[in-house]
Amino acid sequence: MNVTAHLPNDPAVEIRPGVFRPDWSLVTKRRAREALTGRLAARAGLLDRWALRLEAAEDLIWRTVLRLYADCGRPPMLADIAAASGIAADDIAGTLQTLWKHDLVALDPHSGDIRLAYPFTQVATGHRVELQGHVLHAPCAIDALGIADMYSTNVAISSRCHHCGAPVRVETASEGKALRSVMPSAAAVWYDFAYDASAATSCCPAIAFFCSEDHRRQWLNDQTPRREGIGLTMDEALEVGRAIFGPVLVEGSSDIQT
Ligand SMILES: [Zn+2]
Repeated sequence: MNVTAHLPNDPAVEIRPGVFRPDWSLVTKRRAREALTGRLAARAGLLDRWALRLEAAEDLIWRTVLRLYADCGRPPMLADIAAASGIAADDIAGTLQTLWKHDLVALDPHSGDIRLAYPFTQVATGHRVELQGHVLHAPCAIDALGIADMYSTNVAISSRCHHCGAPVRVETASEGKALRSVMPSAAAVWYDFAYDASAATSCCPAIAFFCSEDHRRQWLNDQTPRREGIGLTMDEALEVGRAIFGPVLVEGSSDIQT
């Protein structure tokens, strides 16, 4: 069974009319392209659970959660989402369960509170993102790098080398479309292809920053079994992050909001 053979060259999901995720038009670098296609091929064509088109009301709630998360620096409560979206809180609770099934958010199993909505999590992952006066945590390095373009702003990311613990700091420019600074200048990223039900608990812990290509290689050599994935420069990783997160808040080409 080779499902990938039947997929188009650039598999993407039209998340709303005219908005495709990932956005292949942003991908200019060969290894960034290999990262996005390799992830799919490594899993025999299994798409991430987020790779689908939501109903209009689900899509509105998803975007409302992400806007409020960034604006407030914390996950929104049901009442916040209801006030911002005009949808009744009872309906929102059910929709959040649907978004959880699609691995777009994660909820506290007891309280139902939002604990994660990619590219943000309440878990202290070590990837700290300074966004509009708030400090938020990203589940992985690629999520962190996609945030600025997604919100049309700039961010500063503070993390540590996944091998030696040395500080890594990345600042964006041009509303997230470019890198302003990378310290150390040779800092790199590992993009892992593992996926099992939830990105946050499968691939994310291994999608990390490294102070150098050398430390990324040393870390990779220490892994058993050997991990499937691809090493990226920071420029390449920025393209992957933008391709995945850039489309998330883009309005559809026709009026789908009610
Ligand atoms: Zn290091």
